[in-house]
Amino acid sequence: VLEQVFAPTSLDEALGLMSVAGTRPLAGGTDLVVSERVGRRPFPKALVNLAGLDELRGIDQADDALAVGAMCSYEELLRRERVAGDFSALSDAAAMVGSPATRHSGTLGGNLANGSPAMDSGSPLLVLGARVELASQRGRRVLDVDQFLIGPGETALGPDELLVSVTLPHLPRRGSAYIRLEYRRAMEIAVVGAAAAVVLGPDGRVADLAIALTAVAPRCVRVDGLGALACGQAPSAALIDVCAERSLAAVRAIDDVRASASYRRAMVPVIVRRALRRALDRAPTGTSATIWQTEGAAGDPAPAA
Ligand SMILES: Cc1cc2nc3c(=O)[nH]c(=O)nc-3n(C[C@H](O)[C@H](O)[C@H](O)COP(=O)(O)OP(=O)(O)OC[C@H]3O[C@@H](n4cnc5c(N)ncnc54)[C@H](O)[C@@H]3O)c2cc1C
Repeated sequence: VLEQVFAPTSLDEALGLMSVAGTRPLAGGTDLVVSERVGRRPFPKALVNLAGLDELRGIDQADDALAVGAMCSYEELLRRERVAGDFSALSDAAAMVGSPATRHSGTLGGNLANGSPAMDSGSPLLVLGARVELASQRGRRVLDVDQFLIGPGETALGPDELLVSVTLPHLPRRGSAYIRLEYRRAMEIAVVGAAAAVVLGPDGRVADLAIALTAVAPRCVRVDGLGALACGQAPSAALIDVCAERSLAAVRAIDDVRASASYRRAMVPVIVRRALRRALDRAPTGTSATIWQTEGAAGDPAPAA
């Protein structure tokens, strides 16, 4: 039974409260309150409201990286042109979450810490090479998002730890995109999601390529081996098809209320192809955009910009 809500005004104070057994952080509350209401996870004895912590707020835009405070809302992410331009996959995800009210209250840190396999920020952060900073009274540590996400509702966060920030490296000539298969436009959870990021060299050939999948495994997962496979190749419809088929290796889909495992499996290559094509369209060298006109791509119209 919830007995107390603390309102610390500094990170040190919050970490002191987190070191007491039976406390849990409260960010926007959009997962935490729903989980309690549907009986999935009862409230703890005490909540630590993170709203007053300046250390967890804001977006720091250095030339070589973007550092996003854990308490940053989707609404704040969407207001930054730099996020839409250099980290488009994350911006795509932020624009999809829930409704305007959810995007205003829900935070990036809360999305990650909740650990849902259907979370919309997970795959974009995986392909963009994001790292998270965690803090407790024992000290600080930095993890790749890949190490942070463990399973449904499970992350690397210890009971006394807070997620402080998420840092995304900036890479020139990178395009990225996140596509979600959904049954309606708003207030929906991913049936299947795919994020893609492509870095092109000055010659227009692929220097790096990453794909991650949402809602088809116990956690958001990166597909292994695609960077090595694509490196040095010119973007082509054939390369996109190979990456889409290879993505199936990462799928561990289950049947649930939203879709059967076999439907999810069938949709993975379709959604991956769309995400990869959009990422290529956004990669700044401009050489790739022509491949849709010259080659087309297996049975799928070119995506809208
Ligand atoms: C109507 C509705 C629509 C939604 N639509 C989507 C959607 O389209 N896509 C999607 O991905 N999600 C969706 N969600 C889920 C939710 O809005 C997001 O996951 C949101 O980002 C959660 O953030 P929050 O700040 O509300 O977290 P909270 O609910 O406050 O916290 C979630 C969990 O994370 C922990 N936590 C929060 N912050 C930290 C921190 N800094 N350090 C450590 N632990 C922390 C909390 O203790 C709790 O266990 C939806 C929810 C609702 C109610």
